[in-house]
Amino acid sequence: MTTTLRPDVCVRGSGAVAACLALALSRQALAVALQEDPPADPGRPDVRAYALNAASVALLRELKTWDALPADAVTAVYEMRVAGDADGAALDFSAWRQGVEALAWIVDAAELQRVLGAALGFAPHVQRAGDAPVDAPLLALAEGKHSATRAQLGVAMPLQPYGQLAVAARLVADADHGGVARQWFRAPDVLALLPLDRPEPRRSYALVWSLPQAQAQVLLDADPAAFEQALAEATGGAAGELRLAGERAGWPLLYARAEAVCGAGWVLLGDAAHVVHPLAGQGLNLGLADVRALTEVLAAREPWRALGDERLLQRYARRRALPTLAMGQLTDGLLSLFAHPSPMVRELRNRGLGLVDSLPPLKRLLASFAIDA
Ligand SMILES: Cc1cc2nc3c(=O)[nH]c(=O)nc-3n(C[C@H](O)[C@H](O)[C@H](O)COP(=O)(O)OP(=O)(O)OC[C@H]3O[C@@H](n4cnc5c(N)ncnc54)[C@H](O)[C@@H]3O)c2cc1C
Repeated sequence: MTTTLRPDVCVRGSGAVAACLALALSRQALAVALQEDPPADPGRPDVRAYALNAASVALLRELKTWDALPADAVTAVYEMRVAGDADGAALDFSAWRQGVEALAWIVDAAELQRVLGAALGFAPHVQRAGDAPVDAPLLALAEGKHSATRAQLGVAMPLQPYGQLAVAARLVADADHGGVARQWFRAPDVLALLPLDRPEPRRSYALVWSLPQAQAQVLLDADPAAFEQALAEATGGAAGELRLAGERAGWPLLYARAEAVCGAGWVLLGDAAHVVHPLAGQGLNLGLADVRALTEVLAAREPWRALGDERLLQRYARRRALPTLAMGQLTDGLLSLFAHPSPMVRELRNRGLGLVDSLPPLKRLLASFAIDA
């Protein structure tokens, strides 16, 4: 006979957002049942690396997971160089000029997932529920963009595909990365090189190259030499000679926003609630900010209020509405601007980059948006 678990909160999802939420609730001494799925393809580790902002790092520190990451799985970004699609159109950010410790931290995605999994094993109030039936006053869904439970609840989240794939891979350069992240905004692709210390210290990068689907597929199918040649042309050798270090993977890109993020007894977090283009590296940062907001709202509830009380959960929804909408619109707007083929728009956007670069207050504002979002 299977016994029904009766925790305070049931967290459903297998990604970083679900794991962080379970750990954060456990720290409030709430009993959590965590429902995870086994990894889809355990033989193929995630080749991505996440650019995390200071707020996400602070949360991971509080959850005692940041310091558990091996030193070579985290690299601080001290400079960011953004280039447009005309000679000289550029925008540079530096941690020193912004007066911050680092602009971002690049974290190995598979390693983060491993460390979070290990921490869950020690969390005193988290029970891994497996297939056991769970009856909890609050169901927190962090099932990702294709959340089936969200659909069962009747919550619409129309997925708007960009018709693009992000090609992700690990690269090794013949020169030191110097803690510099580089990004090229062009029509129609966006290419990011995120400095990493894996597989080789000081010389590795995580690549995220967003392109129209057909072009991306050609790059995914190309032999390594042809791929490296395409990379050399796209980056103009700015990061040195780049060599593929492992498998490539393609991720379909889309924009989506759930029509509601809570109701009586349920709440959505992370990609189950909002999906943005990775060009600004903010999807997981938004999900971790959801975790922070929900745990604070629950901790501050009136003693008589139930955890699943819709009025309580609306406080979370109100707190997250503007930041998630703003980030979605910013990434969507940037993508439309840079994907526009018209020569006039091209001229304007390249002049715009130069203009922002020459206006320190505007530049500071843009940087702080990315650092704190
Ligand atoms: C190429 C690329 C690069 C990116 N780079 C960055 C970056 O630099 N910085 C950043 O902040 N973000 C980045 N992102 C975005 C980031 O990957 C996502 O926002 C983040 O992974 C969302 O986390 P999540 O836990 O909400 O969802 P997911 O990572 O999708 O995890 C949800 C998991 O739950 C599982 N699941 C589904 N149903 C159930 C169920 N019923 N029970 C149990 N489990 C279930 C799913 O299979 C999935 O494994 C990037 C995205 C891409 C595609």
